[in-house]
Parts: sequence; C-alpha cells; structure tokens
Amino acid sequence: MTAPALPVPYIAAWSGEQTAQRQITCRADGIAYADEQRYDRDQHGVLWNGRAYARGTGRPRFGEVHPTRQRDAMAHLLCQVCGAPADRDARGTLWLLEDARADWSGWPDGLMTTHPPVCLPCARLAADLCPHLRGRYVAVRVRESDACAVLGRLWAPTALGTPRRLEKGVVSYGTSAARWVTAGQLIRSLHSCTFVDLDDAR
Ligand SMILES: [Zn+2]
Repeated sequence: MTAPALPVPYIAAWSGEQTAQRQITCRADGIAYADEQRYDRDQHGVLWNGRAYARGTGRPRFGEVHPTRQRDAMAHLLCQVCGAPADRDARGTLWLLEDARADWSGWPDGLMTTHPPVCLPCARLAADLCPHLRGRYVAVRVRESDACAVLGRLWAPTALGTPRRLEKGVVSYGTSAARWVTAGQLIRSLHSCTFVDLDDAR
C-alpha cells in the first residue's frame, strides 16, 4: 500500500462511471435525447451529458470532471475536493484560483470559472501538500457569484434530423444557443472579490 496523497476530488470522474452514448435528435427549437428523461435537463432547460454515477468505482480519472458532481458543487457552492459546503465568511465564499492578476485590472471580478469553490481544510491541505501551488494560486473571497453559463458541446441542426457535432464552447443561459448544447460543466461568474491569505485564519 502506498501512502495517500491528495484525496480524489469530489468532482473527478472514475473509470467505473461510463459516459452514456445517447442518440441526439433535432427538434425545432434545439436538441433532445431520443430517450430523454426529465432529469436530463437543468432548471434552465439545458441538456446535460449523461454519465453513470458510481463515485469510487474503478480508478479516478483526474483529468475528467463528472458532470453531475461538478454541477452539484457549483450550483450549491460545495467544495470541489471533498463535497462539503465551501467555506464562507463575511467577505464571501472561498475560491482558489490560478493567479491571473495580469489579465485585467480588477481581476478576478467578472471572471467566469468552471472550478467550484473550496472549504478551508481542503484549501490548506492543497497548499501544504502542493508547495508549487503557492505563487501560482491565489485565495479569493467571492461575495457574489452567478451560475450564468455552461461549458459543453455545441450542436447545429441539419436537414436529416440528426444534429451536427461542433466544437466545445461556453454558452450563457437564456440564449438561443443554450438549446443547442450538451453541457458538461456549470460556470459561475465571480463578483465582489477580495484576496485573502489562507494563513491568516490559522
Ligand atoms: Zn473540502
């Protein structure tokens, strides 16, 4: 047995969680699964990727995000590492973000991210176990955030009734494109952000 390193993140997919191969059809106003169920769409009517739910089965796929757990974490502000509620104080919910302060003045205000927030123990664990994160990542308190878009596969209508597969992209809720995407990750835009030092609260 080898010593455990970082826990397998809550949002990571496992090899035992197969992606469903579903037939997609065109309707007048967008795409649909041929065997669609009510749970295939979110409350905005956006279609989501189907994937089996069997967390812990097989091997973790660190590079793959499980669509249901990512959406769950992002929608309910759960820690992306352990799945418990993310940390929140008067300055807002805690996020660890790759430092991109050079991108624009006021960053990360207005940033759209697929990465859910974190709880304090997981943020500290990550910082302690991964020294390389220091300097590359910043801890940010986010007072306001809006689940406003999805990252997913775009589709286009064809004359044959079977949609044509396009590239992946970001699609905002409430747009006509939101009917032509199979979503894989929920996106939040971040506002009223404050940089914080994780060591302060020790
Ligand atoms: Zn956590």
